[in-house]
Amino acid sequence: MMINKEVEWNIKKLKQKNFEFANKSGKWLAWQTKKRKEQNTINKIEVGGEEITNPKDIRKGFLDFYRQLYKRKEKNNRRKIERYLKEKEVQKIPTEAQEGLNTPIDLAEIKMAIKKMKNGKAPGPDGFTSRYYKELETTLSLPLREVMNNILKEREIPGTWKEAFITLIPKEEASLTQVKNYRPISLLNTDYKIFAGIIADRLKKVLQEIIHEDQAGFLPGRQMRDNARNVINILEYLTAKNEREAMLMFVDAEKAFDNVSWDFMLENIEQRDMGNDFLNGIKAIYTEQKAKLIVNNVISEEIQISKGTRQGCPLSPLLFIMVLEVLLDSIRKKESIKGVAVGRNQYKVKAFADDLVLMAEEPLETATEILEEIEKFGEVAGFIINRKKTKIIAKNMDKTKMEVLQQKTGIEIAKKVKYLGIWLTPKNIDLFQNNYVLVWKGIKKDLEIWNRLKLSLWGRISMIKMSVLPKMMFLFQMIPILKGVAIFKDWQRMISRYIWQGKKPRIKHKLLIDAKERGGFALPDLKLYYEAACLCWLKEWVKLKNTKLLDLEGFDTRFGWHAHLWKEKKEGYKSFGNHIFRKSLLEVWYRYKNILETGVPHWLSPLEVIGVKKINMRNDWVTYADLVVKDGGKWRLKPYEQVKEHVYDWLHYRQINEMFKKEEKEKGYKEKDSKFQSEIVNNDCKIISKMYKILLEWHTMDEEVKVVMIQWAKDLGYNIDLDDWQKIWNENLKFTACVTLKENTMKMVYRWYMTPAKLAKMYKSSNKCWRCREKEGTFMHMWWECSKVRGFWEMIYIELKRMLKYSFVKKPETFLLGITRMDISRRDRKLFQYAITAARTLLAQRWKQEEVPNLEEWRLKLTDYAELDKLTGKIRYQKDHRFFEDWGKFTEYLESICEEGTTLVGFKEAL
Ligand SMILES: [Zn+2]
Repeated sequence: MMINKEVEWNIKKLKQKNFEFANKSGKWLAWQTKKRKEQNTINKIEVGGEEITNPKDIRKGFLDFYRQLYKRKEKNNRRKIERYLKEKEVQKIPTEAQEGLNTPIDLAEIKMAIKKMKNGKAPGPDGFTSRYYKELETTLSLPLREVMNNILKEREIPGTWKEAFITLIPKEEASLTQVKNYRPISLLNTDYKIFAGIIADRLKKVLQEIIHEDQAGFLPGRQMRDNARNVINILEYLTAKNEREAMLMFVDAEKAFDNVSWDFMLENIEQRDMGNDFLNGIKAIYTEQKAKLIVNNVISEEIQISKGTRQGCPLSPLLFIMVLEVLLDSIRKKESIKGVAVGRNQYKVKAFADDLVLMAEEPLETATEILEEIEKFGEVAGFIINRKKTKIIAKNMDKTKMEVLQQKTGIEIAKKVKYLGIWLTPKNIDLFQNNYVLVWKGIKKDLEIWNRLKLSLWGRISMIKMSVLPKMMFLFQMIPILKGVAIFKDWQRMISRYIWQGKKPRIKHKLLIDAKERGGFALPDLKLYYEAACLCWLKEWVKLKNTKLLDLEGFDTRFGWHAHLWKEKKEGYKSFGNHIFRKSLLEVWYRYKNILETGVPHWLSPLEVIGVKKINMRNDWVTYADLVVKDGGKWRLKPYEQVKEHVYDWLHYRQINEMFKKEEKEKGYKEKDSKFQSEIVNNDCKIISKMYKILLEWHTMDEEVKVVMIQWAKDLGYNIDLDDWQKIWNENLKFTACVTLKENTMKMVYRWYMTPAKLAKMYKSSNKCWRCREKEGTFMHMWWECSKVRGFWEMIYIELKRMLKYSFVKKPETFLLGITRMDISRRDRKLFQYAITAARTLLAQRWKQEEVPNLEEWRLKLTDYAELDKLTGKIRYQKDHRFFEDWGKFTEYLESICEEGTTLVGFKEAL
């Protein structure tokens, strides 16, 4: 089973990452190594019911088993294979793709392949490690290139490339006296792996195109969790459509990788027109293979291998999925096999490596058809279905029919099936109990055992990271179905009890979970990891690209996805939550929506929001990013002529225009994509940990700061990005050495100024504004909305445009907090900060007076600042040109007003 491999690999990677940490808990490491050693010695096996303990006989037992396994059983049936594949009309690859596969290997490819090799892996029979190739890369590249290109032309490979060592790793939770319960791992020579790696990289690009998305394994951007999502969605759908009889068949194939027929594999390549040199390369590998087993550190004699994809070779999984694609494609094409229908879509099959699930309606008729198809394929390709281990989950069938189905197929109709590591039943409501509760039970037991290990605080934290997190993460990614937050509190309490060994916590939880670069302990926060996983899932709703998944997941929703994500709740929205994934994902989205998208999102598709939802959705959805343009410092919809293909008609255009204008006004449209869009939606790499980091940053921020941010958001009517706030701390406060200037910014951020409204609450005085004496004197009124203050800012705005010699958008956060956008050039930002701080300081000085400051006062203040800056500049910086860079535009501005004949002649001399 490949699934364990992926999980195992993920755990390994995690362990690797935390290696530094793990080192600190030496006792645990020692215990772990001891355990591994015990596992690795095989003391006893059973062959034919007989117990064997003699080391030599144990070796023979394994040798016999693998000799048998890798022996080709069927006779030469190339003709039959050829006929079968011709009949199936396998898809040929495009010509450009063929060229890519068949060009000579160049040095850059070799370099890249060597660079990508991981250090510290056991070497193959020749003993040369990957480190050796890395060190000697320049010397070895040329001869390697020659050997490799010779293979593509002449189909001859070095003798050592045919050899491999096979070590045996015991499978978990299985009897270790059974030979079949060991997983063989091949150790291949490094130069061979470099070659195979290059070919594999080329092949991946081609397969991306020709392998249907029903196969989720081994190709970039495809994930195991997509299959679990699909299967659970199907169950959800069939629960709603309870008049449709259906089944899900979870196929167990016997050692699927090891049984692949070489002839079939090669003929498959030939019929897909993949090119001669490429075929030569594969043929060279799959003509002769030998291996020696390593049992209890002793190397056995040689065995011949004549079938199966090569263990431990990077090409192996790709060759396998190409073979399996023939079967899946024929099932998809066959009309008599009725998949689960949603509108005009049919959902028939999903595969992750050799884990295969088939979905069908009218199971009594289709089940036998499916099995027939699998058997025909199996005969030629070497695919053997194990009916005893294959299971069916039946939906909407009565007892008699289920019995008939069971009899007809010889396959058990199960109450519970483990698929890709997840326990499934006909009812999704069981998912929580069968998976989350079960896994946590195991973790609880582990925590009790580790409690006795007497590790340090760091050691205990790293245990949580290495052993608890991966298990929970797996569930979060496969089945994000949790409701509410109570469960996280339970889990966290238990983890906390372990970390503090039942004593009172001595470090605040926030500090424990905070990132190390901010001085925290990086203890994983399960709730945030879960939420990160949910938000990454939800990305499909944002992108609207995977229409097949969306059609299924939203089969009964009444409005578009973006309506649910962005619009205020309307009538009919409630039913959206009647779905196991939709409910939990939307719950998390609402928790973070305002933090992740502080303005109108660029990804929002207005047409999808207003359009009528159909069962099968359209493919291309135009977004605001495509529709709007900046014009004279303001965002607006592009002219109708430019976007008419996207918006159907004039009426829709008008509707969108109204909507955008309203939203722009209320929430604002940002200059750039949000972090959520750029790092999560438009990205495929490590998105969960990126998402976790974003959430963590928000959660560990000072409570006081958060309160202030929320107040500002209320006043402005929209949120300010976390990034922008951080810019205030990190950049804006550094622009000057002057403490009073810094203080002014801080006082603004923390809303330090006493307002009539506040005073009125405290002393029952009048709450009217001191300037206009009409409106209530709230913070925002006093600083921005009051008609007199507005006049003042308008004046400053006009002067600033003159000074900078360009226009920019007048927004309260720009003047009050110094949050600048791209429309103010980076070179002008220092001057700009001085200019608005001068304005604010003046307003603050006249805080309780009726009159607002005038223009001359402002110019004088700014001149003061310029002088001060020049003075500090003399102490701090060596050169005057820095000053001119920062203040040049100001002096030019002063010059221009002097020419106008104003009375401020003295200004220039002052500088
Ligand atoms: Zn007022």
